[in-house]
Amino acid sequence: MKPPANAATNGWYNILPAPPPARRVSGAVRAPWAVVGAGFTGLSAARRLAGHRPDDPVALIEAERVGFGTSGRNSGFVLDSHFMPQQLPFPDLDLARARTRLCAGGRDILETLARENRIDCHWHDWGKLWVAAGPGGERGLVRQRQGNDALGIPCETLDRDGVEAVAGTRFYSGGLKVEGAALVNPAALCRGLADALPANVALYEESPVLRHRGGRPHRLETPAGEVVADNVLLATNVFSPSIGVARSAMAPLVVYASLTRPMTPGERDAVGGDRRGFGLLPAATGGSTIQRAPDGRLLIRNTLGYGPGDTSDRERLAEMRLNHADSIRKRWPAIAGIDIEHTWGGCVAITRNEGHIFGAIGDGLWASIGCNGAGVSRGAMAGTLLADLIVGRDSDLLDDQRRIPAPRWMPPEPLRGLIGRRHIRRHMADIAER
Ligand SMILES: Cc1cc2nc3c(=O)[nH]c(=O)nc-3n(C[C@H](O)[C@H](O)[C@H](O)COP(=O)(O)OP(=O)(O)OC[C@H]3O[C@@H](n4cnc5c(N)ncnc54)[C@H](O)[C@@H]3O)c2cc1C
Repeated sequence: MKPPANAATNGWYNILPAPPPARRVSGAVRAPWAVVGAGFTGLSAARRLAGHRPDDPVALIEAERVGFGTSGRNSGFVLDSHFMPQQLPFPDLDLARARTRLCAGGRDILETLARENRIDCHWHDWGKLWVAAGPGGERGLVRQRQGNDALGIPCETLDRDGVEAVAGTRFYSGGLKVEGAALVNPAALCRGLADALPANVALYEESPVLRHRGGRPHRLETPAGEVVADNVLLATNVFSPSIGVARSAMAPLVVYASLTRPMTPGERDAVGGDRRGFGLLPAATGGSTIQRAPDGRLLIRNTLGYGPGDTSDRERLAEMRLNHADSIRKRWPAIAGIDIEHTWGGCVAITRNEGHIFGAIGDGLWASIGCNGAGVSRGAMAGTLLADLIVGRDSDLLDDQRRIPAPRWMPPEPLRGLIGRRHIRRHMADIAER
């Protein structure tokens, strides 16, 4: 696993204005605290730590530009609850409730920051609509309903007409509407969070940490300089093995997405549905996540790869684009052939048991690694709680986070890849839902 270098485009990022030039690590930078990784987890950890220690400089080191990595290249659902239907009935309902509180807490953190700092990320309190196109999805909807009922989360079942009224398509046989989630442009949210960091955080971008030498102080080597820090927080998620951490914890996956141009007013009329935008999540594993953004663009996500090598593989991206175009055509024939302006892959980490590396992992070394689904809100929450843990600030949410198990061991490559690819094939088998 190499440090991140996402050569391919990221549509959410590319539709934003170009950022000012990056400040890179150059020469020797000395700081009591360094946070590596400026995704949702690292941005939150740096912010919270800087708040707890207002007199201490915090160096936040990011390999690429803020918003260009996975945190800025996802589907833009800021979820307040999330569970995998395959885990039902919940083997540990208290743990499922704890995960839900963490998710909701992260969503609240992001909403507060977005509002207080007037971050222009198209924050939209729309909720989420789980959708089914065939028998696989319908089984998934039943399980979603069971899970929401078990957790006490209100939800409403929609039939084909009900889904059509929202999404403007008869492709789906039914859905389950759940309030609470928000939809955003995730790259804009990340960038806004970085712009609003406290003054004692120094953000260094385009500065991949190539080597970490432990001990006090820690030394973080980047291409043009070194950060020497007494304490290091790792928020590097799937890329952590490249600096020697979490090697047996996660499988790297690539998730693919595309963004269309904005629909014209005529196309919006032809499509129908909720013109303010909407967010659809597939109830079957092989289905498509779709966000209709307020500017009339469609974000579509489906198809997985075993990563991380293929985020910049042009042939692979071309194949994904065709999949995405086909999924749009099946749902909205009136806009079949709409230009897809961007197609990209993003790297995520999957742990076997939804486990999470959280807390001290060495002398002056801390980590929050392993956000699976709902990593936007869970990352925001976990980063915040990591800083709380470090300074000894207890809370019920920190107790919840402590209950999340550590990731179960995964076999090394090539066995991990063989098993991972087999899972992916099974996961994507239900093409009718795609
Ligand atoms: C297409 C797609 C759709 C998704 N949809 C959703 C969704 O709608 N909602 C949701 O909640 N989740 C979604 N996810 C998952 C979500 O994006 C992740 O769970 C989330 O980004 C995890 O945040 P993080 O900060 O922990 O890790 P990351 O976002 O991976 O951030 C880690 C950061 O660390 C940096 N880094 C890593 N190694 C180094 C190094 N050596 N030196 C310096 N910097 C380093 C990386 O560049 C990166 O910016 C999706 C993911 C993808 C790819």
